[in-house]
Amino acid sequence: MTNSVAILGSTGSIGTQAIEVAQMHHLRVTALSANSSVDELVRQARVLRPELLCIADESRYSALKEAAAGLGCRLLAGMDGLCEIAQHSSTETLLNSVVGMVGLKPTLTGIAAGKPIALANKETLVAGGALVMKAAAEKNVPIYPIDSEHSAIFQCLRGNHAKQLKKIILTASGGPFFGKTKQELVHITVEEALNHPNWSMGAKITVDSATLMNKGLEFIEARWLFDLRPDQIEIVVHRQSVLHSAVVYNDESVIGQMGVPDMKIPIQYALLYPERLPCPTRPLSLTDYGTLTFAKPDFDTFDCLTACIKASERGGSAPCTANGANEAAVAAFLARKIPFLRIGELVNAALETLPVTELTCYEDVAAADRAARDFVAAQL
Ligand code: MG
Repeated sequence: MTNSVAILGSTGSIGTQAIEVAQMHHLRVTALSANSSVDELVRQARVLRPELLCIADESRYSALKEAAAGLGCRLLAGMDGLCEIAQHSSTETLLNSVVGMVGLKPTLTGIAAGKPIALANKETLVAGGALVMKAAAEKNVPIYPIDSEHSAIFQCLRGNHAKQLKKIILTASGGPFFGKTKQELVHITVEEALNHPNWSMGAKITVDSATLMNKGLEFIEARWLFDLRPDQIEIVVHRQSVLHSAVVYNDESVIGQMGVPDMKIPIQYALLYPERLPCPTRPLSLTDYGTLTFAKPDFDTFDCLTACIKASERGGSAPCTANGANEAAVAAFLARKIPFLRIGELVNAALETLPVTELTCYEDVAAADRAARDFVAAQL
């Protein structure tokens, strides 16, 4: 169990909950970073007094300097700042909860410096899973998943032999548009897409949940984290988000992890591993729920999910292409430049059009990511 944590993406939904967990268990917070929210970042720094404070958006550095004057923190900016935190001597565990492929370099830097990673940045594994897992194995660095599904699987694998695992059941809430046809999704607005039934999250991941791209990214993430073949992952829609995922062993025994839908549980498991201490969340009352439901996903309507599975089967740069195209398409949707269904069309078109290449270093990943974003930009 760690004594302190450096948090990348501290003003986001995962970051703020990670701070709550850290405070409850008296973990020192040694570094904080935000993308552009200077005021919120400095508010956190006043309370936590970290050694390092970083603003990823370099244009906000002077604003940070002004707001953080007298706090005694070393101030950093940009990708260099994020990577400096990742490898700093004061960093004991690195919690990476930045959004998007931008999180990859800090993750690789942290691993190279031998820092255990609490990973909430799923795009890191989608775009550069091969590099991340290879580096982590070489350095013998543990990666503790903070995605609720992957934390569930991680927990269900404890005390058993991974060799005897038959498959995993990755649960999906289905998002706000479960049961709808493509026709009914033609005029979906940004506001409707941002209204998730169970989880309160940032805008990008909430849109990803509405398109089921999020489940597609998690499919790829699970492959890397648990060394699975695509045919070993079954996606099941479970509307209540109580069973956070399950594993099936060779003897057909199914072990699942349940709890209320609250990210503080997986965050705490990642930070306190292997300890289980009281968590600032609600207890699960199964009788309050009464009924739990399970259904097959609609792969035709939610074509982002299908794209990710296809990309995962193709391997190489294909998952990185799907992710890069999605990041660009979601940004365009949130800026009201394209309709909702266009996101899936663009992700699939990028996969059909762009070549699959091998990813052997960070630059390869960055190039494939760039090509996917450029492809989407050219279609707008
Ligand atoms: Mg998840």
